[in-house]
Amino acid sequence: MSTQETGTATHDGYFTKTLGETDPEIHTALMAEEDRQRDGIELIASENIVSRATLEAVGSAIVNKTVEGYPGKRYYGGAVHADVIEQLAIDRAKQLFGAAYANVQPHSGSQANLAVFLAFLKPGDTVLSMDLSAGGHLSHGSSANLTGKWFNIVHYGVSEVDGLIDYDDVLRLAHEHRPKLIICGGSAYPRAIDFARFRAIADATDSILLADMAHFAGLVAGGAHPSPVPHAHVSTATTYKNLRGVRGGIILAQDVSLERKLNSAVFPGVQGSVILNAIAAKAVCLGEALRPEFKTYAHAVLNNARMLAATLVERGVDIVTGGTDTPLLLIDLRGKNLTGAEAAESLERAGLTSNKNGIPGDTQPPTITSGLRFGVSAGTTRGFGQQEFEIIGNLIANVLDAAPSGGTDLTSIEHTTQAQVKQLCERFPIYRAPV
Ligand SMILES: *Cc1c(COP(=O)(O)O)cnc(C)c1O
Repeated sequence: MSTQETGTATHDGYFTKTLGETDPEIHTALMAEEDRQRDGIELIASENIVSRATLEAVGSAIVNKTVEGYPGKRYYGGAVHADVIEQLAIDRAKQLFGAAYANVQPHSGSQANLAVFLAFLKPGDTVLSMDLSAGGHLSHGSSANLTGKWFNIVHYGVSEVDGLIDYDDVLRLAHEHRPKLIICGGSAYPRAIDFARFRAIADATDSILLADMAHFAGLVAGGAHPSPVPHAHVSTATTYKNLRGVRGGIILAQDVSLERKLNSAVFPGVQGSVILNAIAAKAVCLGEALRPEFKTYAHAVLNNARMLAATLVERGVDIVTGGTDTPLLLIDLRGKNLTGAEAAESLERAGLTSNKNGIPGDTQPPTITSGLRFGVSAGTTRGFGQQEFEIIGNLIANVLDAAPSGGTDLTSIEHTTQAQVKQLCERFPIYRAPV
């Protein structure tokens, strides 16, 4: 008898068959993506490689559970294990960053930031943040984002001469516009931010300070970068970039009296039920970050980023601000007569993935740009050290020095580089993920 006749809702193999057996199209694409990650050098600053343990948590059956609210204050039953998991994630986040308050529910960094807007602002209130073109983030009030449409955004930039934040200018803008919220931290700012100075500016104008450490949270956790947490009223981070965990966001604060405001801004303010497999995986990644090995990783990231920058400088590549204090660096291609789009494409053909990125004073549109952004977190996780990043810097420079082809066939330099990339990757294998 067929299952249709017996009325059994779960067909044969629903609980036992593998993805490869039931959905070869998706399975094939997932396997091909694994190969791509294994055989290429990942230089996209927003990416990393999670642990096998994190993958297990993401793929666990807690994905079936729905809860709303917070541990001990749920709206559905059966939440006992969910509560244990979320409480562990909260406690680990607080311990790791020395924070009095943590919320681990934001589905992403953008949601974390939106919740902070909702907690402290009314539509039309003024926010002072870094311009997207200077290295800010969409969720900091870009005109294309909800935050830019519903709030009055004033931007500070960076100096076109040295690429650095001009703190006197930030103070001047704060006095002029009296923002309710000031945001520091960005997605393409390679230098350490003076959080104490930002707090002094915020205090001078009675503003709330939000520090967004999305790109360097792992360095902060591992003691390789100053922490914004003691200075900012609220700090946000993504868990999947330099922190090396699952996709998602967290919110931290020093003042526990902000708990009610921030918690209710996340739920029910901007989100509904909790993505519990992500919470479990966040707990795993935060647990990993509390171990001594993570300090080694964090310091290796910084050393590798500086080695990559130094190698590129040696090869005549211009680096915005001349170097880096974070996992990322930004290069200026104007001297090479290349656009960011051309350079990123050529590098990708050679097996090195990165992204085109606007640079201070860029005259090219965001779809073209005059710069590239490189991050070293994924490569560092893979096991690349300074020696390997010196090699990678030279591979990048080789590609940039050759003119882009624009055709469909690889240029000879792209071809040679691709083989060198594959060789290097074979020496540092990553898992075959249990998908
Ligand atoms: C990546 C990033 C975010 C969050 O982005 P999502 O894609 O929403 O996770 C937020 N702020 C900054 C500065 C970022 O770089």
